[in-house]
Amino acid sequence: MRSLAVLVAFLLVGVALGESRKNYAGAQVLRAVPENDSQLHYLQGLFMKNVYDFWTEPGVVGRPVDILATAFQLPVLKKTLARLGLDFTVHISNVGDLLEQSRIAQEKAEANSQSSMDWNSYHRYDGIMDWLESLATEHPDLCSVEDVGTSYEGRTMKLFRLGSGPDTNPGIFVDGGLHAREWISPAVVTYIINELVRNRVTYSDLLSKVNFYVMPVINPDGYEYSFTNERLWRKSRSETGSPSGCRGVDGNRNWAYHWMEVGASDDPCSDIYAGPEAFSEVEMRVVRDQIWRFKDNLKAYLTFHSYAQLWLYPWGYTSDLPEDWRDLDSLAQDAANALFQVHHQHYRVGSSTQVLYAAAGASDD
Ligand SMILES: [Zn+2]
Repeated sequence: MRSLAVLVAFLLVGVALGESRKNYAGAQVLRAVPENDSQLHYLQGLFMKNVYDFWTEPGVVGRPVDILATAFQLPVLKKTLARLGLDFTVHISNVGDLLEQSRIAQEKAEANSQSSMDWNSYHRYDGIMDWLESLATEHPDLCSVEDVGTSYEGRTMKLFRLGSGPDTNPGIFVDGGLHAREWISPAVVTYIINELVRNRVTYSDLLSKVNFYVMPVINPDGYEYSFTNERLWRKSRSETGSPSGCRGVDGNRNWAYHWMEVGASDDPCSDIYAGPEAFSEVEMRVVRDQIWRFKDNLKAYLTFHSYAQLWLYPWGYTSDLPEDWRDLDSLAQDAANALFQVHHQHYRVGSSTQVLYAAAGASDD
C-alpha cells in the first residue's frame, strides 16, 4: 500500500513536470548539414515526427540544421545521424547550463535596471504594455495606444500607432513575439519604436509621411509562459483537448491562406500544430482584424522571428513566387544592404520556401 502511494505521488509529479518544466540538464544542440536529398528527406521526416525540438528546420541541402536533444535522447540521435552518414558538431554543449546562466543574467539586469524599460534585459508582457502607454502619454501628437483584443488567458492586446500625418498616409504594420520563446523579437520591435520616438526630430520627415501600426508581442500568453514555466515554449496556450494534455497552437501555422497544406502538423503535441481550423487562435484573429482594418492604406507587413540572419518574403506555402516578387526582392536587398552597412551582418534574402522550407499558414503569406 505504501509503495502504491509513493508511485501515485511520483506519477502526479511526472504529469505536472511534463506540462510545466522540461529537464534541459545535459541537453545539447547538434548541428548537422545534410549533403544530399536522402539525408535531407530523412531529417524532414524526423522533424515532422515531433520527437526532437528543431531550432532550425531542414530546408535545403547544404544548410545547417540545429536539433535540440535532451540528455536522455542524445545517444539515439547521435547514433541516427551517424547511421545516415551525417556529420554533426555539438553546437551547444549544455543547454541547461546556458538557460541557467541567462536566467541569472536576466535577474541581475532586472535588479540593476534604472528605468522600467531598457534593452539590457528582456521585459515581461505587462512592462512592455505599460511602456507603450507611457510613450503615448508623453507624445500624444505622435503616438497612441488602443486596446484591440484579449488573449486566451485574458491579457489585453494593444495596438501602438505612430505617425504625425493623416490617417490616410501609407501604413506599415509591424508585429513581434508570435513565437513565445523568441524574446529578441519583441526586444527588436520595441527598440525600433524607441528609436523613432526618441529621435522624432531626425525622423520627422518619415513620421509625417508614414503611419506605423505596431503590436510588439502578439502571443502574450505564450510569451509569459516562457518566463514563468518553460523557457523554450513556442506556441499559444489554448486548450487543445489532447488526451495527453498538450496545449497551444503554432500561430505561424494558424493563418488561413493555404492553411495546413504543407509543413504543419495536426498533432496538438507538435510544436508546429496548425490548430483545429484556420484562425482558431484568438490572438491571431486579433492581429488579422487590425491588418484588415487598415488594409486600404497598408503598404507593408513586417513580422519578426528568430534565430537566423534572413530577410524572407512570400510564399511560404509553395516554392512558386508571387507576381510582385521582384519588388519584394529588390526592397529586401536594399534592406539587407542597409543592415550590413550599420551592423556588418549578412542577411540572406529570398522567399520563405526557397531559403527555409515550405510551411503553410504563416502570417507573412
Ligand atoms: Zn518564430
